[in-house]
Amino acid sequence: MNVHESEKIAGILSKLGYGEAAEGEDADVVVFNTCCIRDNAERKAAGHIGMIKTEKKKNPSMIVAVVGCMTQQSGKAMALREKFPFIDIVLGTSNLAMLETYIPQVAASREKFVDIDENERPEVRENESFYRTSGTNAWLNIMYGCNNFCTYCIVPYVRGRERSRTKEAIKDEFMRLVDEGYPEITLLGQNVNSYGKDLYDGEYGFADLLEELAKTDGKRRIRFMTSHPKDFNRKLIDVIAEYPNICNNIHLPVQSGSNKILKLMNRHYTREYYLDTIAAIREKLPDCGITTDLMVGFPYEEESDFLDTMDIVEKVRYSNAFTFVYSMRNGTPAASMPQVDPEVAKDRIMRLIAKQNSITKELSKGYENKVFEVLCEDLSPSKTGFVCGRTDSGRLVTFPGDENLIGKFCDVRITRSQSASLFGETEV
Ligand code: SAH
Ligand code: SF4
Repeated sequence: MNVHESEKIAGILSKLGYGEAAEGEDADVVVFNTCCIRDNAERKAAGHIGMIKTEKKKNPSMIVAVVGCMTQQSGKAMALREKFPFIDIVLGTSNLAMLETYIPQVAASREKFVDIDENERPEVRENESFYRTSGTNAWLNIMYGCNNFCTYCIVPYVRGRERSRTKEAIKDEFMRLVDEGYPEITLLGQNVNSYGKDLYDGEYGFADLLEELAKTDGKRRIRFMTSHPKDFNRKLIDVIAEYPNICNNIHLPVQSGSNKILKLMNRHYTREYYLDTIAAIREKLPDCGITTDLMVGFPYEEESDFLDTMDIVEKVRYSNAFTFVYSMRNGTPAASMPQVDPEVAKDRIMRLIAKQNSITKELSKGYENKVFEVLCEDLSPSKTGFVCGRTDSGRLVTFPGDENLIGKFCDVRITRSQSASLFGETEV
């Protein structure tokens, strides 16, 4: 989501006539696209903003803007301006498009702007200027915001309530991406499974949208993220099973394996319900790569709760998992619950990572000597003469090749695996 938003920012800048500054070159405009999902993301952003101070001294005409989730927290915009008085523009999450107006004004008069829209349901502004940087994959927002209020999460406070884009707007953008030749398109939303609820009153949902997009002629891959387990339905599994161009790759964040913790998190499902969903996916989509997000150290988490999380990881056997230590976010309900000792949380995250790594390693072995269709995405960042790409299930494969393969579908036999990495040879 954040990467795609940066593409929108770069699109606005390019429309204003700016180009990408080379590494080490003085930039005329610097935009910080911030995230505040965890404390370390916020600290990193503040660190980077602080570092630009010396650049700004050397080049006072440089325009510095700070946008994104961090600025949208209550009182944060003004606090940022006070701490970093050299910032010229502070924008919230829903009015990014205003950069187009403010940047020329700052350039002309050095006037400063702070513009945060506090509305919980800000209007969906269609942004037509993208500067896509994601290579063979194009991101496509289908909705904004979130209604779920998981008790640890800041997103609903900084991104407002769920707003779906109309199916027409999505289809138009999808067709433009098809015309531009993208071999992979990823649909984005905080909870794609509740797509359309605000617009179509249950008459048209995510499965319908996905099916319509999948019917578009031509060979390409469609991916989507993120799915909330409480809204993931059987109809969606059927649509994925029916259309070969929808990838067999589902990101289904479980967060915790303990019913007590899931309740405290306000996730609206139990481990039993979650495991039933996984069973239904595996029944219809046996080769589906399932990934997840896991959190340890949530308030009230005891060793037995953590062991439930370890157990669910063992039962599901995720192909990959993003693992996080709970980070307290001001203003969320969990911030006023008793916090877990950071040392205990640290010990749990290490054990969880070790468990997931051993599962990923075992699953990788299962790929050996089999042939998979891989979409070649890029040159390998670490091995010259090699390229890398993903299987339909989302696993990264490195194999011999050059830039001519980028964007092409190749049949690759996996010859070797090493933990999460797969290596192969193209089949002729
Ligand atoms: N909408 C998506 C998640 C967006 S945030 C979903 O519900 O799955 C991505 C992940 O960040 C979450 O799944 C969660 O695991 C993690 N996360 C969110 N808030 C967090 C917090 N306060 N501390 C630690 N991790 C957090
Ligand atoms: Fe945050 Fe929960 Fe919404 Fe995901 S579903 S963005 S974790 S509140």
